[in-house]
Amino acid sequence: MLPSLTGLFSMERRKLVIIGSGPAAFTAAIYAARANLYPLLYEGFFSGPAGGQLMTTTEVENYPGFPDGITGPELMEKMRKQAERFNTTILTEDVIDVDLKASPFTIKGSATSVQADALIIATGAIARRLDVPGARDNELWQKGVSACAVCDGAAPIFRSKDLFVFGGGDSAVEEAVFLTKYARKVYLVHRRDHFRASKIMVDRAERNHKIEIIWNHVLIKVEGDHVVAGVILKDVNTGKETRHEAGGVFFAIGHDPNTAFLKGQVALEPNGYIKIQPGTTLTSVEGVFAAGDVQDHLYRQAVTAAGSGCMAALDAEEWLSEKELA
Ligand code: NAP
Repeated sequence: MLPSLTGLFSMERRKLVIIGSGPAAFTAAIYAARANLYPLLYEGFFSGPAGGQLMTTTEVENYPGFPDGITGPELMEKMRKQAERFNTTILTEDVIDVDLKASPFTIKGSATSVQADALIIATGAIARRLDVPGARDNELWQKGVSACAVCDGAAPIFRSKDLFVFGGGDSAVEEAVFLTKYARKVYLVHRRDHFRASKIMVDRAERNHKIEIIWNHVLIKVEGDHVVAGVILKDVNTGKETRHEAGGVFFAIGHDPNTAFLKGQVALEPNGYIKIQPGTTLTSVEGVFAAGDVQDHLYRQAVTAAGSGCMAALDAEEWLSEKELA
């Protein structure tokens, strides 16, 4: 057989393939590589920033081991290097199809197809954004517009400013409360007249004198030259538009797990996240494991993703040993 452009032999068989490039995927690769599983990792190309959601954050101050903080891209570069150091094969390709019905599994990338005895899916989730003028890429996105208050909220540009959080679920309420640590005032804007969030969270927000709730409004524009300076809101009942001074805009309107390429071959939860056996990374398909945000709608932190990546590698190693494939 001839090696392909990537140096792989066509339909090469690997013990373990990992799909993803965030903390879960690279941690799984580090553990699997050190266990001599010679993992092959598809880090994606067009599917989103290789490195996952951390590539779009600025300073990460809550990842243990970096007392002075580290930027998201730097953290991911370090994880990637660590995975490479132990001989993970990294392909900068998107996975476009998988066949998990037959063993070994077939993983079809945009340029390379491989077979895998075990598979770890760590493709993450994407925070939803409101597609309004001013909030888009090359406008004020990441210049005061963010989809992660916990990641970005402590940045100096948001200090002592009026911040706007959009959404009515637990994330929106939690993020509004979180932002009061830094903001002058936080406006929590919801498109309806009651929250989806749990009562305990809502009570917390209502008791916080720095939070003002704006019901029945939607964002129609973000203004500012280099950073966010204002927002235009619309009352959904009257259609009336109002402008407010603003130093930051935070979307908390949910996440979408990246599972489209699975085409229904792995069982999903009703909310679209991969279903796992509680306390493990085992999916509905034997030999297929899921780690990170693609199976976690709740914690969604770099450190929890990394932890579950480690679990997935250990679960995969055990499964391969049981099947005498390790
Ligand atoms: P969510 O519960 O799906 O809430 C999303 C919110 O965004 C909803 O209020 C929705 O409005 C609003 N929204 C969606 N699309 C919108 C749009 N285009 N324009 C304006 N608003 C829009 O998502 P989440 O808050 O991220 O929570 C996800 C899960 O994690 C939930 O199960 C939640 O309980 C859990 N969680 C728990 C905690 C905690 O317990 N500490 C913290 C965070 C999250 P509508 O209400 O009108 O649909």
